[in-house]
This record gives sequence, C-alpha cells and structure tokens, in this order.
Amino acid sequence: MFDKILIANRGEIALRIERACKELGIATVAVHSTADADAMHVRLADESVCIGGAAAKDSYLNIPQIVSACEITNADAVHPGYGFLAENARFAEILEEHEINFIGPSSEHISLMGNKIEAKETAQKLGIPVVPGSDGPVSDYSEAKRLAKDIGYPVLIKAASGGGGRGMKVAMFESELELALATARTEAQASFGDATVYIEKYLGKPRHIEVQVLADGRGNAIHLGERDCSLQRRHQKIWEEALSPALNEEQRQEIGETVADAMRKLKYKGVGTVEFLYENGEFYFIEMNTRLQVEHTITEMITGIDLVIEQIRVAAGAPLTIRQEDVTFNGHAIECRINAENARTFRPSPGTITHFHPPGGLGVRVDSGAYAGYTIPPYYDSMIGKLIVHARNRNECLMRLKRALGEFVVDGIDTTIPLFNALLAEPAIADGMYDIHWLEEYLAQDS
Ligand code: ADP
Repeated sequence: MFDKILIANRGEIALRIERACKELGIATVAVHSTADADAMHVRLADESVCIGGAAAKDSYLNIPQIVSACEITNADAVHPGYGFLAENARFAEILEEHEINFIGPSSEHISLMGNKIEAKETAQKLGIPVVPGSDGPVSDYSEAKRLAKDIGYPVLIKAASGGGGRGMKVAMFESELELALATARTEAQASFGDATVYIEKYLGKPRHIEVQVLADGRGNAIHLGERDCSLQRRHQKIWEEALSPALNEEQRQEIGETVADAMRKLKYKGVGTVEFLYENGEFYFIEMNTRLQVEHTITEMITGIDLVIEQIRVAAGAPLTIRQEDVTFNGHAIECRINAENARTFRPSPGTITHFHPPGGLGVRVDSGAYAGYTIPPYYDSMIGKLIVHARNRNECLMRLKRALGEFVVDGIDTTIPLFNALLAEPAIADGMYDIHWLEEYLAQDS
C-alpha cells in the first residue's frame, strides 16, 4: 500500500480523497494555489504545498510544480480527483517516469478514451452498443452530406477531443449541415486545439444513463449499477440518481454485464464510467470517463462500497476482492450539486459565506469544503458542495431530500438550493419521467 498520497485537486473532492486516505492509514499532502491557502482541504491534510498562482494553469494544471511537490514531500502516489489533470494521459506518463503512482488507469487507456472517435470504435469492438454515425472523422461537406443522409436527420456534429458539452452542433435538416459542420470545427479548434469532428444520429428524447465500473487491471471487473444523470443544464449535470427510475432489473444486469465484460477484455484498471444515452429501450454509448466522477457518491450510498478506497487499492496493485455477486443495491440515492450561482439566472456568485449549516440526520450526506467565513474564489468551478440523500425507496428519498434542503443554510452568497426545492414540486420529477431536455424546457417556460 502507498505511504503518502498527494491530492492534485481542491474543494470537496480533495476532502473526499483525504477521508479515504485517513481510513486506509495513508498520509496526505494537499496542494493549493495562492487563492486557496484558507481552503478546508489544505487545513485537513497532513501536509500542504503551495504550487502556484490563482489561475488553474499556474497551479492545479501545473505539472512540473505538482511533480516537485511530490518530490519535496516524498509522496509515492497522486490522486487527481476529477477535472484538472484527471484525464490527462501525459500527466499519468510523467508521473510514471518519475516513479510516482498515478491513481487511475494506464496512460494508454486514458488517451484511448480521451479521443471520442477512438473510444467509440473501441467500445463497438468490445461489444458495447454505440450511437449510429460516421465511423471516423469527417471534414468535408459533401462527405458529411452523404453520411448524414444515411444516418438520417437530425444529426449531431461532435468534437473528437470534446468535453463539458462543448463543440457540439445539431443539424435538424440538410440546410443546416454546412454551417453546423463549420461552426463545430471552429469551436473544437478554439476550445480543444483539435478541429476533428464526427457525426452522430441526434437522439430526440434520450435519458443519460451511465454505468459505474471497478476493475483491477488483471482482467477482473465488476459493475456497480447505473446512475441517471438526465437532469442537465447546458449539458452539465445538476441532479443525479441511482438507480435509474427508467430501468428494470433485467436491463440493469444486461447493460452492467456488457460493460463489465468490455472492461475485462480491455484489462482496465481503476474506477470508470461508461456513459450512454437511453431511448426506447436501447442503449447508445457516448463516452467513457476514466476517472472518479462527481456523482460517484450515490453509487456508494446504494452499494455501501467506498469507491475511492477501492480505487486506491487497485492502483496499489491489489486484486479486486469484491465479486459481482457481492454487489447489492439497497434503496435509492439522489445527489444535488450545490453551486454558488443564482438559482434563476445561474450567474456565478463568488463571495464570503457568512453562515453555513449543512443538513444532517439519517441518510443525509454533505460533501463540501465550505464553512462559515469561507470566501469562494472566483477562479474555479462554482460547485461548493454536494447534498446526497439515501432512503429505502425513491419516494422516501424525495421526502428526505426536501427535508434536507429545508435545513441547509448557506448565507452570504446565492446558491442553487432554491432550484432543487422548485424541482421537487414538479410532477415529472416526482414520477422520474424526464429526459435530457426536460430541465432546459422547464427553465425556459419558467423565465
Ligand atoms: P462531453 O464529453 O462534452 O460531456 P458527451 O458525449 O458526454 O460530451 O455528451 C454530453 C451530453 O450531450 C449528453 O449527456 C447529452 O445530453 C448530449 N448528447 C451527446 N450525444 C448526443 C446524441 N447523439 N444525441 C442527443 N444528445 C446527445
């Protein structure tokens, strides 16, 4: 096992990883920017190192500084969390060169899945169903026109190096295709330094359903059920639930086994999430995330498995000890992302939190680095915490969520808490009958 882990991240996820390390008896090193000197993840770590200025490129994305921090503190492994360097294959490679363990899959698997075209090809080869579309990159308009006709409109142009929902353009009809192609390419070049795009069938009313996997790199892999992340604004998830209200047990086991089997063949190591769109009873692969995800918590609540502890164990070379038949799903869990944003306009609301009282009680978990007196710096993601509730079934879970939201006090800044209160009053939410467009439509009618 590792002796000391450096956590190359900030905020709630840095705290989350520190908790797992403490329970494993592993020492922790926090890194931070100058803007984060007072952050809770720094306070709670055994050691800390300031690695640079406020801008992420100077600190949390600064590879030489992070490697130096490992050397100064003698850390033998790095946990990247999510975002920042978590899916940067070069970072994993550089750590390997310095004989520091990267807590995640091999750099080959990160780059394979980092390119969406290659990822889709690989998924298909491994027996995972994919969205119908071009088999590779598409650059020229006449080729795009021919492909789109075959696929059938509407189609979606997507960036091969895309992420965070950027670089995607829909063409409803052929007349929109040329512009969509050009705009997607320009956006992809500007955002990701890679203009490569491909074409996919645009699904009209899908749900976003993703399968959590855990694998040891020796050909053992299990799935931990699915999460439904269909409630999205601008392709960003804001509310996630496990299990999905849309699947039955047979569909669950079938897609879970398909994904676990693919991970065995790949000899994948670590935690990972295979994301699908789900429509009319069919699954369509869209991408794989080769890291811990924000919403891993709801899977933990229903399985009782600590994903970060398991992730650290397999990274240290331990074989998987949990068998598929040991995994059972208990009750229902929902996560709400609490962002420092106005709940109506979604304008970021950095500033000082004057009062902070997180909810508690049975089945309530708050993962957050926020505290009274904490000043949210404007430089990073606006998420200040996650409220996770767990109950015996979905109805009790919704009641518990309502109760917990009512207890949550965050004064001094705007948060998305009022949005979740409003959502709980919606019949579509109560019934679990929503697709990936539902939230945008709801917000549009509201304003
Ligand atoms: P990113 O890496 O940018 O998050 P994804 O491929 O995961 O990109 O897609 C993000 C979101 O975009 C999905 O959750 C879904 O809402 C939408 N989306 C992606 N592909 C399609 C598609 N073929 N049809 C309809 N919506 C899609």
